[in-house]
Amino acid sequence: MELLSVVVPCYNEEETVADFYAEFIKNEPFLKNRGMDFEIIYINDGSRDGTAAEIKKLHEKDERVHMVSFSRNFGKEAGLFAGLEHARGDYVVAMDVDLQDPPSLLPEMFSYIDRGYDSVATRRVTRKGEPPIRSFFARCFYKLMRMISKTEIVDGARDYRLMTRQMVDAILSMPEYNRFTKGIYGWVGFETYWLEYENIERVKGETKWSFWKLLLYSIEGIMAFSTVPLSIAAVVGILFCIIAFLAMIFIIVRAMIWGDPVAGWPSTACIITLVAGVQLFCIGIIGQYLAKTYMEVKNRPIYIVKEKF
Ligand code: UDP
Ligand code: MG
Repeated sequence: MELLSVVVPCYNEEETVADFYAEFIKNEPFLKNRGMDFEIIYINDGSRDGTAAEIKKLHEKDERVHMVSFSRNFGKEAGLFAGLEHARGDYVVAMDVDLQDPPSLLPEMFSYIDRGYDSVATRRVTRKGEPPIRSFFARCFYKLMRMISKTEIVDGARDYRLMTRQMVDAILSMPEYNRFTKGIYGWVGFETYWLEYENIERVKGETKWSFWKLLLYSIEGIMAFSTVPLSIAAVVGILFCIIAFLAMIFIIVRAMIWGDPVAGWPSTACIITLVAGVQLFCIGIIGQYLAKTYMEVKNRPIYIVKEKF
């Protein structure tokens, strides 16, 4: 019998854990029909509420429910990775617990697997119910990514994705510490079918992503899948050298022809501040990459398990 593993990252989700189970279980007849068994792996990402207790309750009712509990909050990326590592299935699907990734799409997703795709991904075509500012910055991020990264990162792509074992193993072969899953999915390749649906609002609870967290996450994404910012630093540096060189020639020629009246303090001060600013900016970019490299070189584990069943 084939096995489907469902990976569900949870952080302070006591309200939604049971709802998710109830919704997912509606797929049971479909899976049985296919001759397929399933396991649900909840990743408890250091929740501070009753999430773990809720998952335990489900486990007592249904042995196909499992939990991997982290020693603290490691972030959704770490949760997804842990889920893929613990999944034993021939197929693995990652879903959010808040039902924004509707489990009812599974039969349709499998129909594309049957047509020979290695993976069925989802993207939302609208961002209904999201603050406009957030949508605006999200759009800008994807536009920028398309310009500066060779890895394809699709606008509106969700982490909701059904994959074959082969693709999961490919993802597991990338044990990088700074994980940007949307980029990793694109990087490993394979035939992917994109299923589109309208944005669905979270059933209960609140989003765990503040604007600040999203901003940092987007920087993570850019740095993990592009080194273009490093070249920007170099290009800007060269540009300023050329400008400075021309200015030097101009000043020397002017001094030789008209002498050197002491004037121009304001403009000098402006130039110094501007150039210093650009230098600090470029050093900052380099520093960011250095910091990421530093974390990567330390080779720390991506997550630490406290309990699992
Ligand atoms: N999540 C997680 N760890 C975190 C933040 C979020 O495991 O540090 C989970 C969360 O429980 C949910 C999913 O990631 O299942 C998506 O989070 P959320 O719904 O808050 O994000 P949004 O849908 O608003 O982007
Ligand atoms: Mg959500």
